[in-house]
Amino acid sequence: MKCKRCRRAEAAVELPSHHAAFCPDCFFHFFRRQVTEGIRKLRLLAPEDRILVCVSGGKDSLVLWDVLIDEGYKTEGLYIDLGIDGYSDRSKEKVLAYAASRGKTPIVVELAKEGVPIPEAARCVRMQECSICGTVKRYFFNRVAAEGMFTVVATGHNLDDETARLLGNLLHWQRDHLARQHPLLPGAGGGLVRKVKPLWRVSEVETAAYGFLKGIDYVTEECPLSFDATSLVYKEALSLIEDRMPGTRIVFYKGFLDPSNPLRKGPEPAAPSDAVPRPEDAPVADVALAAEVDSEEGVGAPRACASCGAPTYSETCSFCRLKERVRKARSLRAAKVSR
Ligand code: SF4
Ligand SMILES: [Zn+2]
Ligand SMILES: [Zn+2]
Repeated sequence: MKCKRCRRAEAAVELPSHHAAFCPDCFFHFFRRQVTEGIRKLRLLAPEDRILVCVSGGKDSLVLWDVLIDEGYKTEGLYIDLGIDGYSDRSKEKVLAYAASRGKTPIVVELAKEGVPIPEAARCVRMQECSICGTVKRYFFNRVAAEGMFTVVATGHNLDDETARLLGNLLHWQRDHLARQHPLLPGAGGGLVRKVKPLWRVSEVETAAYGFLKGIDYVTEECPLSFDATSLVYKEALSLIEDRMPGTRIVFYKGFLDPSNPLRKGPEPAAPSDAVPRPEDAPVADVALAAEVDSEEGVGAPRACASCGAPTYSETCSFCRLKERVRKARSLRAAKVSR
């Protein structure tokens, strides 16, 4: 099959949702255009922005960084080492190798050194790893961005991620989450930095094809802690629909983002923990802590955490409360062992 754009080269990527097939060069052009249009339409980024790109070693975040560099944005990468045996080392290697290939040195935060490696922290406070991971990552996105004078934080969430989240929010009628869901979360002052998802218009398959054809070496394995992530079920359901009715995902999401949609209030400032773990994600015994973490949401201006100075609506921020719980659980265990 010939490329639908140049009509000369053989097509390497077929995109039923766009009724198109492209050769590698035309696909790069198409993909970058989708991303830049997504940025332009929702005013996600300005040329003068200093962008902190959160890179995990997976395809989405590395592709995002690649596109933003190629488009001439001022970017630095942030890698958060979650402390997951083997997987974290392999992910970090990919990030460092990619960064070096673009003449960059990413900022690295090691959660083991910060006292909250995700698997151990989850065991200590008996909460789901992903809930804790979300809280901790958001904390460091804000902290590193504020310390480094970045104007915006960018993450690699793609159309599949966003529609899976939308479907989950709809199925459970999470009205608050629906009102806030958007590729742009404006900053709220006091150290709360604007957050954007520039890949919101491109699918996971398109992102993977871009990464592969560009020769970007990324981790292909899933996070080993993701086995029970409910978002995978929503993604599977949407893939089934997309296969039968190509283009459904983008119609679904664009319709949701339409300003006339009464379910949405428009972009709202990020809360100190802007995608707060939901109490229903936690095991029953841990609803109390989840609810406590959830109390990060509030109205008005946040104040400084008494312990670390991060913006919060409580006395201390959710990260410091979590860290304290982990510290206490560790001491308790050590005391039991020494008895
Ligand atoms: S699957 Fe869960 S634990 Fe793993 S990176 Fe994602 S949020 Fe973190
Ligand atoms: Zn072509
Ligand atoms: Zn704090």
